[in-house]
Amino acid sequence: MGPAMNKAPALPPTTIDRPVSIARLHGEACFHCGAAGRTLHAAGRITLAGGTRVWPVVTCGCRQGVTG
Ligand SMILES: [Zn+2]
Repeated sequence: MGPAMNKAPALPPTTIDRPVSIARLHGEACFHCGAAGRTLHAAGRITLAGGTRVWPVVTCGCRQGVTG
């Protein structure tokens, strides 16, 4: 963390109103299909409804971002 971190505008996280497995929250599996053995790409950030923690999630490319 440093001053440079503040220069990139961060999109607000997407609120997810359904259960999400720990592996998906931790970016260890595709947010949509749960694939863990494929190349995973950053898909944005989410918060769980009623929660405050922001989780960076990933996808295997099966969908765009966390809402697509
Ligand atoms: Zn996937």
